[in-house]
Amino acid sequence: MKYYSTNKQAPLANLEEAVIKSLAGDKGLYMPEQIPSIDKNVIATMKNMSFQEIADTVAQAFFGEDMDPQSLSDIVKDTLSFDVPVVHVNDNIYSLELFHGPTLAFKDVGARFMARLSSYFILRKGLNREVNVLVATSGDTGGAVANGFLGVPGIHVFVLYPKGKVSPIQECQFTTLGKNITSLEIDGTFDDCQALVKAAFVDDDLNKHMQLTSANSINVARFLPQSFYYFSAYAQLDRIGRADELVFCVPSGNFGNITAGLFAYKMGLPIKHFIAANNQNDVFFEYLQTGKYNPRPSVETYANAMDVGNPSNFARILDLLANSHKEIAALISGYRYTNEQIADTMCYVYNTYKYLLDPHGACGYQALADYQLKPEETGIFLETAHPAKFKETVDRILHSDIEIPAKLQEFMKGEKKSTPLGKDFEGFKAFLM
Ligand SMILES: *Cc1c(COP(=O)(O)O)cnc(C)c1O
Repeated sequence: MKYYSTNKQAPLANLEEAVIKSLAGDKGLYMPEQIPSIDKNVIATMKNMSFQEIADTVAQAFFGEDMDPQSLSDIVKDTLSFDVPVVHVNDNIYSLELFHGPTLAFKDVGARFMARLSSYFILRKGLNREVNVLVATSGDTGGAVANGFLGVPGIHVFVLYPKGKVSPIQECQFTTLGKNITSLEIDGTFDDCQALVKAAFVDDDLNKHMQLTSANSINVARFLPQSFYYFSAYAQLDRIGRADELVFCVPSGNFGNITAGLFAYKMGLPIKHFIAANNQNDVFFEYLQTGKYNPRPSVETYANAMDVGNPSNFARILDLLANSHKEIAALISGYRYTNEQIADTMCYVYNTYKYLLDPHGACGYQALADYQLKPEETGIFLETAHPAKFKETVDRILHSDIEIPAKLQEFMKGEKKSTPLGKDFEGFKAFLM
């Protein structure tokens, strides 16, 4: 499989190049030249498969020709040592719980897969130069990526995060690890962190000095594996006879997750409609309404992993759907929520249905409720993080004292180590050099 750039000004790349480089030379995002389709008879048998088997089927279709199939199966198996259960919330609304991985966030899937795939290519090639992963995080990505790559040979990870804007639990998931993980506390916003990473990729001196790559969802190995769990959700609902008219609702920030869903759809997974749920960072919502894309600085909200003012994967969505606003707006609906609405939804759903939402999942649930499913439709929202990752916010809203899972408590025992830096590129560059 070859990968082209969404800007169409860079040469085609193979999988290895796309993974190791992340961003094409023309700053576009890599897209696979073809989208393999999965036979509908195979999709129909997925209800009898495990998550690992489902994921292996999808992974082989995408990556199988570019590597040894057995190694790919091993990577899938090793990545997915946890389940993504579908849980009934009320009426025809279900939650796809993506928070049962090592850092309790859906990003564990993409991060672990990418770490193992990169390591496979590095070892195969016998690269004698270390590969440096730069990752900007608004909270959740840092933990998932740092833990996914922890101790992986040949790779060093730099996590850039906005000072004071990630929760203490999130922060300790990447600042306490040591080894091949370095945390940089940036005096700025998430967008500043993302801008630093993007600037590093196009800086000649830096790229001569060191091999750089990104583990944000701009990397194909990070976002594509996220299509696995759309297939799993379908299979689980198929088992109970509820998969015929599926509406997927995705709490969105950089739009990697929903893009993976769109790939699943293009591969032949029967999905009727998508909903992108936003917090007050609503550039995509606005695009759906007006056809105009107006990126702007992000604002802080309770759902901080969705505080993104210029979603990187917007370029992929445009490319995938023929650059057509009409086509995009026909397949995807948008909703946006204020902090107050997020809090109201969390209270309502907890008190009425005894289901504990985190602030991101709350946007997803509420968007499905507002979409007003038809009786024959089944709605499923992606619950993207465990509520305990946002304990301070959740407890304040629900007047609760929710339990912190043992996995999270382990992180909190470690000692925080991070380097404070300004948001200017020169300072960041000097640090890396
Ligand atoms: C990253 C993240 C999102 C947004 O996902 P995108 O792929 O960036 O759209 C939503 N919720 C949580 C908890 C996240 O960590």
